Amino acid sequence: MSDVKSKLGTDKLPIGWNGRTLLQMLEDSERAFEETGRYCGIEALALMESDPIGYEKTFAKLRGGLVNARETAMNISASPIVKEIGELCFAFYTPEGDSVALSTGIIVHVHTMSDAIKFMIRKGYEQNPGIAPGDIFTNNDPVIGNVHNADVQTFVPIFWEGELIGWAGGVTHVIDIGAATPGSVPVGPTSRYEDGLQLTALKVGEDDTLHRDHELRCELGVRTPWYWKLDERTRIAGCHMIRDAVERIISEEGVNTFKQFMRDVIEEGRRTFLNRLKELTIPGRYEAPTFNGVPFKDEPRLPQHAQVDNLMHALMVVSIEAGGELELSMDGASPWGYHSFNCTPSAMQGAIWVLLSQTVVPNDKVNDGAYLATRSFFPPGSWTNPQNNSVSTGAAWGFLIPAFTGLYRILGRAFWARGFHEEVMASYGMTMNGMQGGGIDHLGKPCSILNFEISTVGGGACAVKDGLDYAAAMWNPEGDMADVEIWEILEPLIYLGRRIKPNTAGPGKYRGGSGFESLRMVWKTNDLEMQNAGEGLTFSAPGLFGGYPAAAGYRHNVHETDLLKQARANKPYPVREYDPEHSELSALTEGRHLFDKKTTTFPYPFRQGDLYLSWLRGGGGLGDPLERDPQQVTKDVNQDFLLPRYAHKVYGVKLLKNDDGSYSVDDEGTVALRKEIRKKRANRSIPVRTYIKGERQRIQEGNFIEPIRKSYNSCMALCSKWAKYYREFWDLPSDFTFSVGDES
Ligand code: MN
Repeated sequence: MSDVKSKLGTDKLPIGWNGRTLLQMLEDSERAFEETGRYCGIEALALMESDPIGYEKTFAKLRGGLVNARETAMNISASPIVKEIGELCFAFYTPEGDSVALSTGIIVHVHTMSDAIKFMIRKGYEQNPGIAPGDIFTNNDPVIGNVHNADVQTFVPIFWEGELIGWAGGVTHVIDIGAATPGSVPVGPTSRYEDGLQLTALKVGEDDTLHRDHELRCELGVRTPWYWKLDERTRIAGCHMIRDAVERIISEEGVNTFKQFMRDVIEEGRRTFLNRLKELTIPGRYEAPTFNGVPFKDEPRLPQHAQVDNLMHALMVVSIEAGGELELSMDGASPWGYHSFNCTPSAMQGAIWVLLSQTVVPNDKVNDGAYLATRSFFPPGSWTNPQNNSVSTGAAWGFLIPAFTGLYRILGRAFWARGFHEEVMASYGMTMNGMQGGGIDHLGKPCSILNFEISTVGGGACAVKDGLDYAAAMWNPEGDMADVEIWEILEPLIYLGRRIKPNTAGPGKYRGGSGFESLRMVWKTNDLEMQNAGEGLTFSAPGLFGGYPAAAGYRHNVHETDLLKQARANKPYPVREYDPEHSELSALTEGRHLFDKKTTTFPYPFRQGDLYLSWLRGGGGLGDPLERDPQQVTKDVNQDFLLPRYAHKVYGVKLLKNDDGSYSVDDEGTVALRKEIRKKRANRSIPVRTYIKGERQRIQEGNFIEPIRKSYNSCMALCSKWAKYYREFWDLPSDFTFSVGDES
């Protein structure tokens, strides 16, 4: 016992396995992986080989326990984000914080919670504040392990005969996080100190009971404490259900078998990932760039250093080796900035993990095996790895989501090359418009709003079929938009309509999934501030193999309308916009229309009767639109997925109008029209050599708007390897930079 004191510096017994501390267990595990390349150095998956059925049964019991915890616990919450959308997830971790299995739901957080547990171990939480049966921990700090503050995590350690057997972890996306602006994903913070409540891996309870001081702190720290409280109870209840399930499995299987099971399952996950990637892809180097705008030059409410227009850049390079090893590099990414779209490496790892688990191993055991099978590089100082704990990450998804369409496009090409056409997908839609704000609601109570219809945008087009319509979110494989009545309980905004939004899907041989539009009227409050939080200056969901990107965003809100007057006079009122060029909102004869490309704004005032149009994005298209079946194009027009004039313009389909107002295909006219478009294309086309020459000249002349020139300069200054690559590709001098007006 004499060395116990030296291990922990106290007379406490270590809680790890075989008399080790958790830190020793973590270091041993990392050393074994470093030396052997296998999880905990495991060679044979003995349990799986000796008792394959028992092994699968144990996994099924554990996974069943996690799904059961989620399905039961979500009913404790009152927040529609949790209860209706299912924006929560539970997972079980080894004592070192490696994920063994997880429930359904917002699975992007399975790896971020792993980071948070490892943080607590590395910082010596075993000694201080101590880890004991009945303890409750919480974290929402992206620097430690999270994407943004709104995703709040709860951890409960699970013990068996004095040893820590593992951790139950649960996460929910809360309605308000006490940030500088209301709603949970603040667009506007320029530093961490405006991102809201920071729960930096705290011990917040003992004996299965929350500390009163923690509860009070949160009650006073957020705008909607009643939702907060129930969300926290949701997470704790789920973690306790997982603890019960794990204890039951151990009492049935024996603790030593369960310990070995945890190790084997993760190593199996790692091996399966490698085998699946080897089977599904052709090795090689794949690249996919993405851009997004930060349009804050004219935002007077920001500090002067943050009032800039900027173009954010992400170049994703994935190298797949012959053995199925995957390495992802973001070299060339823009520097971090004074906005809330920065990410921590934990957020980036979470995004890699969520996408790979959905594309490469969806039918296998999903755990940290996939993480162990991949390597990544996030350039220090970039938006992917700021190395500066003062930056804001409040709306980290703002660039994370479009940037990671790159991984989908890369995997799509790699799957196609190997012949797995059914697995190929173009870019998923950006989960925007974020309809966010707060104030006083229709019941006279403080409210905070982020409408989670965003979890049902369009999926990317596949290589054998169209993308999923209004059903997808990159971060939650089970997207749901919730019933309008549910949102009307929470938000002082009545739905005038929720309809398919034409032309949101990226055109292609297979079109992207469509977005939709919700037209909302402010009701029973004159004290409300709302913002549009969405992209729109760049295409955030690019197409694949000649498919077009999904539509870029715009804003159309109407203030001081005569809508209520018209309704009282029993006149018809608009229920949608439909075609922005012939907007049905123009039926309102009075009103101030904010109809522009300002898709990312600060909250601004709304009054009763004002209209807020929230339209949700579509996914990217795949293949040449001229190859799309004309019958499908006509069906899209008849079902409002496509405006009639675009059948002609984009798809080369000649429509005939029927007596009932519907359309059918003019077969001969379509053949002739497509021939004509192809001829025009041929006439317009130039050899690649000539195109490259022209583009090179454009670069040499700096023939771009200034934010783009500045953006490229900042990427070149930050990432020397990428700068060399860019300059060599375009055959530019080795010290080339763009000239910028106000730079000396
Ligand atoms: Mn979230």
